[in-house]
Amino acid sequence: MSEQALKSSTATLTLSFPWTTAQDKGQVREVVEGVYWLRMPLPFALDHINLYLLRHEHGWVVVDTGMATDAGRAAWEHVFVELFAGQPILAVIVTHAHYDHSGLLGWLSERFQCPTYMTFGEFHSLGIQGPDNDGPNWAFLQFYRRAGVAESDINGMLAALGKSVYQVDMPQGYRRLREGQMLRIGTRRWQVVIGAGHSPEHACLYCEEDQLLISGDQVLPRITSSICITVTEPDANPLGDWFASLRRLQQLPDSVLVLPAHERPFRGLHLRLRQLRQHHDKHLEHLRSALVQPLSAEQARALLFPRVRNGFDHLMAMGETLAHLNYLMEEGAVRRELCESVWRYCLVQGVVQPKGLPEDIHL
Ligand SMILES: [Zn+2]
Repeated sequence: MSEQALKSSTATLTLSFPWTTAQDKGQVREVVEGVYWLRMPLPFALDHINLYLLRHEHGWVVVDTGMATDAGRAAWEHVFVELFAGQPILAVIVTHAHYDHSGLLGWLSERFQCPTYMTFGEFHSLGIQGPDNDGPNWAFLQFYRRAGVAESDINGMLAALGKSVYQVDMPQGYRRLREGQMLRIGTRRWQVVIGAGHSPEHACLYCEEDQLLISGDQVLPRITSSICITVTEPDANPLGDWFASLRRLQQLPDSVLVLPAHERPFRGLHLRLRQLRQHHDKHLEHLRSALVQPLSAEQARALLFPRVRNGFDHLMAMGETLAHLNYLMEEGAVRRELCESVWRYCLVQGVVQPKGLPEDIHL
C-alpha cells in the first residue's frame, strides 16, 4: 500500500477499548477462551507491561517475560500457582529484545527448561543490551559529541545506561521465528508478522480465525513506540523501517482486537496506524522548516523535545531526533557536514533527489 493510501484509508474513527480499566498489576484477565492478559509491574514511569499467556493442551506458552525485578518474579510465582495450577510453561515467545519484554527470559527458561522462540535479529540484539559504563566508550563519546551534546549531559546519559535492571539473562539458544510462519498453540494458529524500526526484527502474532493481534510494541494505543538511533548503528534508518512496517500491518483487517504490550487492548488498528504515521510526519515537517539554517542534532533535539528530565530521557530524545534526521538524509532532503567535530544538518536547496540505492561506503 502506498503512503498516500495509508494516510487516506478510512476505517474506524475512534479507538474502542473493550475493557474500561486494566486489572491490578500482577493479575490476569481472560481475553478470549484460552488467551490471558497478565499485567506486570515496571519500576519506572511506563509503570506496567502486558504479557499474554496462551493455553496449550499440555501447559502454557507465554508471550514476553517482564523485567528482571523481584516484583516481576513475584507476579510470575502468583501466576504459576493461581492460573497454571502446576502446569508447566512449554515455550517462551519474545516479541523483541527490550529488557521489559525479555528480562526474565533466562529465569523462565532455566525454571521450565523450555525453548525460547524469537527472530534472529532480536535474539542477537539481546547480547548488546545495557551497555555498561565501565568499558571503553570512545565510540559512545564521539557519537554524542558529534551530535553536539554537552560533556556533562553525555556523562548523564552514560550513567543512565549503567543500571543492572537493564541487563537480560540470556538463554543458551533459541528457535527462530520467521515472517509468515504459523505457530499452532492449543486450538489456535498464530501467524508471525514481523516489523522493524522500534527494534530490528519485532515479532507480532496474528490469529486470523479469532481476529486477534498480539502486537508487542509495534502498535500501542496511546503512547508511541520509541524509534531511536544509538551508537550501535549510527547510520541506520529505523524510521523508514517503521513506516514500511506500518504499511504492512495496514494489510491486516481493521476488525482485529489488538493486544498491545502497554495500556489496554483495543480495536481500531487502521486508525491507530494512521495516527502513528502522522505523529512522525509532524516531527519531519518541524525539522524541514527549522533546517533552513544549519543545526546540530542537539539543537534539533531541543526543538522537537524541549524538556528532558534526566539522562535517560535525553538519550531517548536524541535517539528519536537522529532517527528523523537520518530519514530526511536518506530521502535526500537534508545533508550534513562535520564542522569543528560536530555534525551540522541543513536542508538541501532545490529539487530533492531521493538517494535510492545505498551509496558507496567511503571508509
Ligand atoms: Zn520495546
